[in-house]
Amino acid sequence: MNYDPSSEIRQITIILVISLTFGLLTGTLAWTLVVSLSGYLIWNLRQLFRLYDWLKQEKLSDPPASHGLWGSTFDHIYQLQQRQLKYRARLKKVIKRFRDSTFALKDGFVMLDDQGNIDWWNPAAEKMLGLRSPIDSNQLITNLIRHPKFKGYFENENHERPLVIPSPLNNDIILEYQITRFGKQDQLIVVRDITELKQLEKVRTDFVANVSHELRTPLTVIDGYLETMSDNREMLAPPWHKPLDQMTEQTRRMSNLINDLLLLSRIESRDNQGRHTPVDMGATIHSIRNDLSSNLEEKQQTLEIILLSNKQLLGPKEQVYSLVSNLASNASKYSEQSAHIVISWLDTTTGAQLRVEDNGIGIPAMDIPRLTERFYRVDRGRAQAIKGTGLGLAIVKHILVNLDGTLEIESKVGIGSTFICNFPSHRLQSTKQKAS
Ligand code: ADP
Repeated sequence: MNYDPSSEIRQITIILVISLTFGLLTGTLAWTLVVSLSGYLIWNLRQLFRLYDWLKQEKLSDPPASHGLWGSTFDHIYQLQQRQLKYRARLKKVIKRFRDSTFALKDGFVMLDDQGNIDWWNPAAEKMLGLRSPIDSNQLITNLIRHPKFKGYFENENHERPLVIPSPLNNDIILEYQITRFGKQDQLIVVRDITELKQLEKVRTDFVANVSHELRTPLTVIDGYLETMSDNREMLAPPWHKPLDQMTEQTRRMSNLINDLLLLSRIESRDNQGRHTPVDMGATIHSIRNDLSSNLEEKQQTLEIILLSNKQLLGPKEQVYSLVSNLASNASKYSEQSAHIVISWLDTTTGAQLRVEDNGIGIPAMDIPRLTERFYRVDRGRAQAIKGTGLGLAIVKHILVNLDGTLEIESKVGIGSTFICNFPSHRLQSTKQKAS
């Protein structure tokens, strides 16, 4: 109901006119004015008390009946109360839906405040992490999940990758933690049970490793016989020469494939925090250039080394070697005669970088995202002419995962490619003298 101020003014004017007329007629103007204004004041005070009594009530009830300014005020307050009740009901419904959905989720959710204290968690998190209500509420998360890797992960600002560690309740259960920041430095931890996935992955890698291992012995025997036959090829009739060459080539290919598969499963099964041997990048790159020298000479290619960082990379030596070697041999393989290859090792704001650049055949943009997939080769027809297993960059990717590094690929067809490996500072160690 909308209030019209002119009606209130009209009412006061009528009271004043009646009081004045009555006062003038009876000769008691002052008394009449005092009595009528006191009456008006008392009536207003009464309305105020009624409002106070009504608002004091715990339960919402209909507003006191009144008219004019007071009636309108009561109605407006009543409408506000009704609206607020509706909002509250809607909010309750939303909270209930949120609670129901988080209760039904199989993944665990733990909400933390900006200090890392636990604010809230869902039943799945309770089951996976053994959180107890209300004792663990407001506790520091690192006091409850005491794994050293969790502490490191939690304190690290970069949570791009999830952390995989055993459950604090049972070592056989493998959990994946992912931290996301929201609001004002609040954090949400999502916990997933990936035990089954890890088991399946292990079955797969074990299977590939076992098959590769079993194939290696017969293949070595075949290779040995083929080599003997090749050494004595004059004893064979000429029609057998071509099949012998083809058999030798295919056996070598199969052998390379098996070696790459075995290397890949070795890299995959290794704990990435395990070994922290400082690797001299300058020496590694020089040694790879020596290993590739015959290929480089054959294609009259040049390989330039630029060492601008004195940092050593912390990781398993053979994996670092394999990483650089795969990238360098690809640069040579996928470049024409007389190409120029540059391998650089330099500092960055976040750590260090290995760059392998070539001015070779390049890679079409649409193939770049898939290069690190196993057996992916750009344009099979083109790749067929160049020997390879299609596993080199998959090996590179897995080594980088073990070394906490990332891979960037920049390439233009016909101009060349650059493979950039970025390493974080915790994977680096300074050497006393600068590398040259
Ligand atoms: P492959 O054994 O075939 O070399 P990789 O996994 O090492 O397997 O590489 C996958 C594909 O990526 C290759 O088949 C090739 O087409 C492409 N590639 C890799 N490195 C380069 C490069 N430096 N220049 C152009 N193409 C490249």
